[in-house]
Amino acid sequence: MNKGRFITLFVLTFLFSFISLLLLRYPEQSVAFFPLYGLLFLWADFRQEKEVQVIFLFLVTAAGLVLAGRMPGKVVAILMEMSGVWLFSLGLSRHARHLSGQEQYCQTELQTLDHTIEENHRDIQFYQRHQESLMAQTHVRREFVDAAQKLGATMNLEEIKSRLLTLLKEHYPKVKAQLVSGAPRDELESWVVRKKVPVMVQDLSTDSRFPHVQSSSFRSAVVVPLQVLRTVTGFLRLESEEPRVFQAEDLRTVDLLSTMASLSMENARLYERIQELAVHDGLTQLYTHRSFQNRLQEEILRAGRSQTPLSLIMGDVDHFKKYNDTYGHPAGDLVLKTVASVMSRYAREVDFIARYGGEEFALILPAMVRSKAVEFAECLRQKAQEESFVFQGQKTHITMSFGVSSFPQDATTASQLIRVADERMYRAKVNGRNQVVV
Ligand code: GH3
Ligand code: MG
Ligand code: MG
Repeated sequence: MNKGRFITLFVLTFLFSFISLLLLRYPEQSVAFFPLYGLLFLWADFRQEKEVQVIFLFLVTAAGLVLAGRMPGKVVAILMEMSGVWLFSLGLSRHARHLSGQEQYCQTELQTLDHTIEENHRDIQFYQRHQESLMAQTHVRREFVDAAQKLGATMNLEEIKSRLLTLLKEHYPKVKAQLVSGAPRDELESWVVRKKVPVMVQDLSTDSRFPHVQSSSFRSAVVVPLQVLRTVTGFLRLESEEPRVFQAEDLRTVDLLSTMASLSMENARLYERIQELAVHDGLTQLYTHRSFQNRLQEEILRAGRSQTPLSLIMGDVDHFKKYNDTYGHPAGDLVLKTVASVMSRYAREVDFIARYGGEEFALILPAMVRSKAVEFAECLRQKAQEESFVFQGQKTHITMSFGVSSFPQDATTASQLIRVADERMYRAKVNGRNQVVV
């Protein structure tokens, strides 16, 4: 028996004995003392002792019956009080039952709530993991958008390759990342070319596809072809000395980078082709280098056939790099456009003016003898010198150097004619610029 129960029984026995003694000692006061038995049930109810309460109800009833026998005059009053004590005891036990029912209900509710909290907790953890994975995916996508922008922002093939390699190294800082150009160098690259798909090697020593590759430099690798216009032009390679370093995700990432770079390279190639095929230069609207070459060939043939003279003037803006550096590239562009329009203004209908290179111009002058061509070059030199270029409120000037060559005295082929005019222009530079050399 535990201590709590012992105290309950002790108090109940004490109360019962005390009240019974009072009733024995003062039977004439029994009507006043009998209801004190109610205290027993209050205490038993407080201590939640139902069985003990029943035993004491039996004892109290017995005591009431004995008392009624001894006090015949008070039988009715005692029996009524006994019934009162019974009702009180029943009321208390009913109340206790009600409370315990409530308690049970609360406990079930509490358990349900605990269960719900646990489920919610699991849900929160699931959503947190989901959110983390979504954020990681967003991050990767943002990186790819950046990569696509970086790769697409240039039309220079070498620049695209160097940006691709930088991206690869940034993405995989812990492994060896390479961009290999040209023919396959090992079995892995040959395999990629043959199958036209990327390859991932988890462990070279156990990979049955490549039994002959004996490499001490890597155990796992990813090799992706770099294709331009359906031709494999190189490979993207990731290598590690450790086995099982790469996942399928890495293969997809490198493949995606390679696809993006391939598209940019194709664009760059097509852009180059378009530039080559263009007849007019976008900035000055003069003829392009390529159309100049074709036209010079034709004019030489014609001049040869018709025994007529033909002259060529090559002109170059002096210290143009410095001009650009001082006033900016847009100011330089304005100079080139103005020089082109000055040349067009003073040239004849039959003359052919081309932008030979950056700030170099070439003029084919059919049926013009050398002396006239020199005069014309001198005129252009003066006009260029006189021209003022206003850029952002600032007045600037330039000078130009010219070289002149003529068919048939100086040369009989197109390339010779160009070479001679070019050499003379170079001499004009060496001699101090802003002059015509013949
Ligand atoms: P030199 O007197 O010996 O000819 O010197 P330079 O500075 O003119 O010659 P250089 O060949 O060193 O520099 C040519 C410059 O022309 C460099 C390049 O930035 C500039 N250039 C080439 N094409 C363009 C263009 O389309 N626009 C502008 N603004 N500059 C150009
Ligand atoms: Mg120049
Ligand atoms: Mg030049």
